Amino acid sequence: MNAAEMTINRTVPADEMLAVRNPISGEVLAELPIMSPDAVRAAAERARAAQPAWEALGVKGRVKVMRRFADLMWEERERIIEIIRSETGKPTGGAWGEVSALDNTMHYYSVKAPKVLRPQKRKVTVPFAHRARVIYKPHGVAGFLTPWNYPLQNGLVDAIAALFAGNAILLKPSEVTPLSIMAAVELMHKAGIPQDVAQVLTGDGRTGAAMVDVVDYISLTGSTATGRKVAIRAAERMIPYSLELGGKDPAIVLEDADLDVAASWSLVGAFENAGQVCVSTERMYVLDAVYEPFMAKLQEWANKLTVSSESGFQVHMGSLTNMRELERTEAHLADAVERGAKVVIGGKRRPDLGPLFFEPTVLVDVTPDMAIMRDETFGPVMPIMRVKNVEEAIRQANNSDYGLSACIFTKNIKRGEKLAEQVESGDVTINHPMFLFGTPDLPMGGWKNSGVGRRNGPEGLLRFVKTHAIFSDNMLLTGPSLTQTDEKLRGFYGAQRRLRKVLPWL
Ligand code: NAD
Repeated sequence: MNAAEMTINRTVPADEMLAVRNPISGEVLAELPIMSPDAVRAAAERARAAQPAWEALGVKGRVKVMRRFADLMWEERERIIEIIRSETGKPTGGAWGEVSALDNTMHYYSVKAPKVLRPQKRKVTVPFAHRARVIYKPHGVAGFLTPWNYPLQNGLVDAIAALFAGNAILLKPSEVTPLSIMAAVELMHKAGIPQDVAQVLTGDGRTGAAMVDVVDYISLTGSTATGRKVAIRAAERMIPYSLELGGKDPAIVLEDADLDVAASWSLVGAFENAGQVCVSTERMYVLDAVYEPFMAKLQEWANKLTVSSESGFQVHMGSLTNMRELERTEAHLADAVERGAKVVIGGKRRPDLGPLFFEPTVLVDVTPDMAIMRDETFGPVMPIMRVKNVEEAIRQANNSDYGLSACIFTKNIKRGEKLAEQVESGDVTINHPMFLFGTPDLPMGGWKNSGVGRRNGPEGLLRFVKTHAIFSDNMLLTGPSLTQTDEKLRGFYGAQRRLRKVLPWL
């Protein structure tokens, strides 16, 4: 079945439809309903009715089904990769990365979820007489608002954790790229996840806003502007939420960096997915001592970049996905050049390759006040600033309203890790930008305007459950009483307090 033939939610009455287009050819891949608030509410009711049976499977039962889904997706990866490519314009390698990263995360939670979610004993104040336990309960129906840049990976990476935790999920993919998620959810159903436990709601921001009104948990991966609106509504409804938002990630090249590693990997950091990555390298700070040799290496490695619409792993960069990103990239570049920056690599559209292609572009002589150093560009531009020393590099890196990710290039890993502690961001990688994507045991998420809450790791799973604390008193030390603070308890506590000086765990 090709993307255009997919029929999820075809039965939903809709006054308006949205067209999904291939960004390179302009071909309409599918027309899908913009679901109304009534349709969203009905979907949530079906999800709420179906969720208890999914929860009742227990985490081990759910793991079995999720493993089947992971295997099906892996078997069908070539088809999924083509769907991702058709709606984003990204190269084969980028789409393969989405499938493999998601597969890796599913494997991680298949092993980790039973451990993280098992009931736990907790410490009591009065040993022998008291017992304390925590059990975890899913929220119920969790909603996901997701972006177009990694339609499969960002579309499902949070939602799969919610499924492992026993929630039903409502997925509202980006209106630009809903087809990858639709294909994956068909495989979920084939694997045995009930239809109403995993539903796709097609539509735009209005459909998304209607979903925030009916779910028990809301997760957004998207822009900071949308994040604010979602957080306000979630607070009004008093539902928990997490926000994975934009970034303006710095990379620092220290004087002891391996310059081939730094040059080649910073190109990956800046130009992976044509720069349309929340954790892409959006600002570079290169120490004065290695600036000239680094720039020479950068030019050398940039000459090897392949930009193309062809399929195959030899292509490094494909098309941008939206005209909006292309125009923002050009506006940031024009502003920077007008204020004295110099383009040293690229700088132009490539209409010969497709309407949204733009050359990988490197810019020098930038200053911190330029929009290109302050605002998220989300395009294939690498602005580079020469800095005197490491202190200036860290100060500039932290000079941002965002704090998602950062990268430090150095051969001295110990020093890099020490410096990483000074960087104000949710994660810092040494010598390998973005690799948090491939390390699902590490929590990912932003500081400052880059977000609230964490995905991946135990943290990413525990956000999808409520704690249920259960305390019992076997009445060994207490009996019928009209007060909490009787003489026996006061005496016990005084003795315990004295004992804790020598037995602090008591
Ligand atoms: P966006 O905020 O425009 O849209 C994200 C999703 O929210 C879409 O599904 C959209 O339909 C929906 N939406 C829009 N308005 C809404 C509203 N008022 N109420 C509810 N839902 C609404 O973002 P985008 O353009 O799709 O994605 C690009 C942005 O996402 C960039 O800023 C990028 O940095 C960020 N992003 C962050 C991460 C991360 O993990 N931190 C990952 C990928 C992308």
